[in-house]
Amino acid sequence: MKKYITVHPWKIIEDGFHPQYKRISESLFSIGNGKMGMRGNFPETYSGDSLQGNYLAGIYYPDKTKVGWWKIGYPEYFAKVLNAVKWIGLDIKINGQILDLNKNEILDYHAVLDMKKSILSRNFKVKFKNDNIVSVNMELFYSMAQDDLGVLKYNIKSENFDGKIEIDSYTDFNVFNEDSNYGEKFWRGISTKVNKEYGIVKAETKKTDFLVSCASANKVFCQGDLLDVEPEIKKSSQRFSHIYKMDFLNGSEISIEKYGVTVSSFFYDKSQLDQMAIDLLEKSLSESFTKIKKRHTVAWRKIWDKSDIEILGDDSAQQAIRYNILQLNQTYTGRDSRLNIGPKGFTGEKYGGSTYWDTEAYCMPFYLYTSDPEVAENLLEYRYNHLQKAIDNAGKLGFTSGAALYPMVTINGEECHNEWEITFEEIHRNGAIAYAIYNYTRFTGDTDYLFSKGLEVLIGISRFWSQRFNFSGKRQRYVILGVTGPNEYENNVNNNWYTNYLARWCLRYTIKSLEDLKQSDKKQYKKILKKTGLDIKKEISYWKEIERNVYLPYDKVHDVFKQQSGFLDKEIQPAGFIPEEERPISQNWSWDRILRSCFIKQADVLQGIYFFQDDFSKEEIKRNFDFYEPLTVHESSLSPCIHSILANKINNEDKAYEMFLRTSRLDLEDINNDTEDGCHITSMAGTALSVIEGFGGVEIKNDRLSLNPKLPAKWKGLNFKINFRGTKLNIKVKKKKTKVINNSKNTLKILFNNKEIILKKGENIFSH
Ligand code: BGC
Repeated sequence: MKKYITVHPWKIIEDGFHPQYKRISESLFSIGNGKMGMRGNFPETYSGDSLQGNYLAGIYYPDKTKVGWWKIGYPEYFAKVLNAVKWIGLDIKINGQILDLNKNEILDYHAVLDMKKSILSRNFKVKFKNDNIVSVNMELFYSMAQDDLGVLKYNIKSENFDGKIEIDSYTDFNVFNEDSNYGEKFWRGISTKVNKEYGIVKAETKKTDFLVSCASANKVFCQGDLLDVEPEIKKSSQRFSHIYKMDFLNGSEISIEKYGVTVSSFFYDKSQLDQMAIDLLEKSLSESFTKIKKRHTVAWRKIWDKSDIEILGDDSAQQAIRYNILQLNQTYTGRDSRLNIGPKGFTGEKYGGSTYWDTEAYCMPFYLYTSDPEVAENLLEYRYNHLQKAIDNAGKLGFTSGAALYPMVTINGEECHNEWEITFEEIHRNGAIAYAIYNYTRFTGDTDYLFSKGLEVLIGISRFWSQRFNFSGKRQRYVILGVTGPNEYENNVNNNWYTNYLARWCLRYTIKSLEDLKQSDKKQYKKILKKTGLDIKKEISYWKEIERNVYLPYDKVHDVFKQQSGFLDKEIQPAGFIPEEERPISQNWSWDRILRSCFIKQADVLQGIYFFQDDFSKEEIKRNFDFYEPLTVHESSLSPCIHSILANKINNEDKAYEMFLRTSRLDLEDINNDTEDGCHITSMAGTALSVIEGFGGVEIKNDRLSLNPKLPAKWKGLNFKINFRGTKLNIKVKKKKTKVINNSKNTLKILFNNKEIILKKGENIFSH
């Protein structure tokens, strides 16, 4: 755990430079606009350790699979999110000496990510070996109003000398991924053109042939006056520079505004790329920095208007929740159904691909609460468009007749993951994809998606489950053998309770949805049967036979659901016994030791209880929570948020708050010792849920919105907004009362603290 980020309700602040945490800070200070993003790399030279990262939505490389021992069914490649062109580069020499925070003496340093505006600024003062002192302040952002544009303003002032300054402003496509399997470079240079006004460099991804053009240009000022200084031009393979050499007088400030436009063939026609980049660049140059920045901040204001969560009386919690919301919105804006939310977003290379079950289980409800339904619908469309690939994927593993197994990790619908215990066994992901369709339908009250497209996905997934269950003569029940549940710290187990429960629910939901469609729209019903070739008599009756007889492991002694058939053969010991220096166990213990231990990586039984809260009594939730939570090491970022929500449900306030801090400050304090690889973007959605559903107590109970708010002792108030079935609600929770502002034209029947009430238009006040 590292506590070097200053607490502030709207800012992420690094006060004083921490070179030992450079990679962590680079992750934390990442910026983005849904179409592209970058780690908080320095524009100026930095000769110390750093992970360079500029990422473009949709652009990937299929890196040849690397495994110890090949198994039939493994995918050929792992899709890597690509490090792309670096356009912010500024190598600065002052009287011949390079500005480099790894070499100069640092007199003062502040880095600030302004969350309200999504602008990264840094100001610092350094002394060179010859005692020359300069101070720098810069601002950097990816425009949310014009999403192909990045802007950097860099001001540098001579504090105590007259001399010369040389600024080499470069744009460079000679980049690589640290996680490349075979040390290959993934880009092939196509062309570099440069003149005195601007430059443009174009490269193509190997194998996938994505084309990317990046054009950049500079405006140089002295004391705020635009200079007409002629740059020297340099060009090499995949890189160009504009070099400005100027006098640098004591007390004077030289500023450089740099505009970088990056366009890719993922979004635009290949033949137009260069021209588009140049046109956009020229347009940006014709405007002022202030105007461009203003449009960007207005766009962010609109985002915050919808999705901000205000916590009164606890700045640390406030900073954390806003940071999570910021990063989610920097990663995904929901405008394109071909895009998804990677576990690291635009903040690092790890996890490649872009889509895990994280999207459906965690991100989907966040966007349902805070954005228009189209955003969540695009996430559903993404999977719908990959249905055939999921069927092919199941086919590769031996499943037939339209059974669909969605990949564990994917970017284009194909499986990328290649560890058998996950690729073949972590099949619960299929259930989360079905659950997202259910979630969307109950949040929006709109069955259009379910009946027009969702059912096809549900049928494919149900077919998979029906083939993956087998009848156990011994148990006289249907069982699922050889699986990995969400807890990846045990593999190849039998009857993971979560997977069995979810699979059973999925069969039931598919059957019920088919019946509903038959009642409401016969024509569409027939169409779906025809399209999927579903044999109602044979298939549905078999599904019914399974769902009535699913084996769900239960332990009578502890009165809890058993995580898997053999879980209680393990030596049960609370995680509190693990010495601090051995944590995280994933970085300190042999895999053998982890697998045989009772320690749980993330919510597993509790994940199922969270999904289906309506099915369980408070006592059942409490018993299972009290049994499993102490065994959980929370080494997946996805774990604490679920625990926080359930702890609230059973009135375990201290645990709820502890888990909330752990999920919300996971990256800000590097709690799992891995933020240097990038931030945990998908679990950030879980953090928002831990506030909305946990402390806010929002739930859909028996098809009705239910509110059950309770504030942690430290909080004076909690304000948030949610969308529910076309109604926008502002919810303001105080210790003794809650105000709900119903912004729609209709009244709404809801449950407040388990009592039925009518939410009238405008303000409603409830005491508690
Ligand atoms: C978790 C998975 C998750 C993945 C990506 C893993 O550590 O165990 O559940 O899908 O990270 O976030």
